[in-house]
Amino acid sequence: MIPSPDLHTHSTASDGTLTPTQLVTRAAVAGVRVLALTDHDTVAGIDEAQLTATTVGVKLIAGVEISVTWLGRTIHIVGLGIDSNNSTLEHGLITQRQFRTWRAEEMAQRLAKVGYPDALAGAQAYANGVVIGRTHFARFLVARGAAPDVRSIFKRFLVAGKPGYVPSEWTDLMTAVNWIKTAGGQAVIAHPARYQLTASKRRQLFNEFSRAGGRAIEVISGSHSRDDVFNYANYAAEHQFLASAGSDYHGPEQPWIELGQLPALPACCTPIWHDWQ
Ligand code: AMP
Ligand code: MN
Ligand code: MN
Ligand code: MN
Repeated sequence: MIPSPDLHTHSTASDGTLTPTQLVTRAAVAGVRVLALTDHDTVAGIDEAQLTATTVGVKLIAGVEISVTWLGRTIHIVGLGIDSNNSTLEHGLITQRQFRTWRAEEMAQRLAKVGYPDALAGAQAYANGVVIGRTHFARFLVARGAAPDVRSIFKRFLVAGKPGYVPSEWTDLMTAVNWIKTAGGQAVIAHPARYQLTASKRRQLFNEFSRAGGRAIEVISGSHSRDDVFNYANYAAEHQFLASAGSDYHGPEQPWIELGQLPALPACCTPIWHDWQ
């Protein structure tokens, strides 16, 4: 059986551990024929991924994952099929990355107070110079022995209420969807089950996203359980969203999902790729 398209992955351009070339090559070996590179707030890996995809016979979908603040929460919006040279999108992503740079300095100051004085340089050593995020701090703190793995570091230091956490002010939902649409792409709500929304907040998010021109939600996600898949397939039908599928792969260290292992979309869903050439 041909694996499902994988429309949500990361490279070293943001917080993945494989270079775009390594990622695309690994996907090809795993049998993935359609792959989207969706790094956090950057398209810096797209050109390299595209070049490699051509040589290994993968259809590469240019993508991005944009952080959004919605009612005080962080929501991730994936853009698929974007023109990665679009200037409106690029200017928007620059403001996101400026916030990331500022936030990294704030995080470092907070981590200094709990015994990690050189966390900024430490995190930067794990980042590529374009995007810095919490994962880079987490990898540095693991190397320092602060906790055994990235997950535990998030729990102990990097989530709300913990010493390294800095509240985030990302762009808003409408603006992010507009950047994606202006760049010719389709907007997708990433891993919707992760936000732990009440039914009423979920409907509100889906309605606002729909009005903004959002097209799809991830029904299949590396972070969705079987129940989540079933539930979000139904919500997609209810809100007339197309369904997307993505592993949210960050590298082979991530134990719970490997490229080429995504389950098929439930039959009731219309896949976002149904009219792709
Ligand atoms: P940022 O966009 O810099 O705030 O970081 C968000 C990223 O951190 C996500 O895309 C994940 O890669 C990672 N992340 C978030 N929460 C966790 C967690 N609990 N355990 C491991 N990684 C996480
Ligand atoms: Mn990430
Ligand atoms: Mn995400
Ligand atoms: Mn992601």
